[in-house]
Amino acid sequence: MAAASRPDLLERLAAQTAKRERAQLLRRLRTIDHVDGPWLETGHQRLLSFCSNDYLGLAQHPQLIAALTRAAREAGVGSTSAHLICGHRTEHAELEEALAAWTGRERALLFSTGYMANLGVLQAFLTRGDVCVQDKLNHACLLDGAKLSGAELKRYPHADVAAAARQLAANPAAAALLATDGVFSMDGDIAPLRELATLCTNERATLMVDDAHGLGVLGTNGAGSISAANLGQHEVPLLMATLGKALGCSGAFVAGPAALIDGLIQFARPYIYTTAMPPALAAAALAAVQLAQAEGWRREKLTALIGRFRRGAIELGLPLAASTSAIQPLLLDSADAALAAAQSLERQGLLVSAIRPPTVPQGRARLRITLSAAHEEDHVDRLLSALASSLRQGKT
Ligand SMILES: *Cc1c(COP(=O)(O)O)cnc(C)c1O
Repeated sequence: MAAASRPDLLERLAAQTAKRERAQLLRRLRTIDHVDGPWLETGHQRLLSFCSNDYLGLAQHPQLIAALTRAAREAGVGSTSAHLICGHRTEHAELEEALAAWTGRERALLFSTGYMANLGVLQAFLTRGDVCVQDKLNHACLLDGAKLSGAELKRYPHADVAAAARQLAANPAAAALLATDGVFSMDGDIAPLRELATLCTNERATLMVDDAHGLGVLGTNGAGSISAANLGQHEVPLLMATLGKALGCSGAFVAGPAALIDGLIQFARPYIYTTAMPPALAAAALAAVQLAQAEGWRREKLTALIGRFRRGAIELGLPLAASTSAIQPLLLDSADAALAAAQSLERQGLLVSAIRPPTVPQGRARLRITLSAAHEEDHVDRLLSALASSLRQGKT
């Protein structure tokens, strides 16, 4: 009798999807058939892409491919188990050493994805009664990690250090962790790391920086946003970054003091209870780390392309954001306007993603343009003239 009124979960999910479709906010999958640097082929259409996070243009580098195939021939494909059983190979250990040295940290620990690394760190560090203070625009997985940990999550307005200070001061007795993106993934701006570091020192809070979009791109030899802010392991004990963006691979790591890494190996469940990343992937990532450090011209080229794009966009009066990074959002009034602009660009042979709620707040829809060292100057010029005509169309 009672069970007859129990809601059906599949029906409920389908109703939520239908609602999103009616609001024209449905997310759609697109299959890419072929990739050649910044060029993509999808459904017989050839598009110049400005949406990948391959900032240094390493994803198809011959040295990465050679490292991957060589290691696969020797080690096979799968790691065959979790790190703590028998999945931790020489390739992983060598990559961890190189990442620690590059970022100026005592040690590093690999995770299979950045999402898992953030869940693992926050769940290992925090528990009920603790407080986790976060920038409102932090990546979704930092927020999810805090929720999973059971700590009290407090979100301060974007980059508002004074608000973060008030949130910490309101709870002086609780153990506290402050987490921020280094470079914000949808806005491209850089967190006020020096001010946050001072605040955390004064408040005895632990500072964690997610440098998914800074590693490889910013700082001395590409060591990331913390290095660019002239900070080190002492001020920012917890660094997390991914291998799937500027390094052109997949996976992530946490780096910091030995005690941090030893603790994560014991307590980070997304580290313990999952299969280690394929050793061949670790070998490819090691090649990427070496190239990212050695080939400063990739960062210089990227910086020049960013400057070219911003100068052109200012001349055209495009709605540029205050970002100096490879992520260059154009803020549009509505989700409809962002979608229409992306569709118009696509008809002109360019792939740019429209980012709409709930990924960004209501009224903050945008085109998220990402630039890469794989682009050339004439690619940027093509993007600018296509944007000029798309956004003109949108206005009439
Ligand atoms: C991409 C990203 C992640 C997640 O990393 P994956 O390896 O893709 O799971 C975490 N944090 C930020 C800021 C990111 O941009």
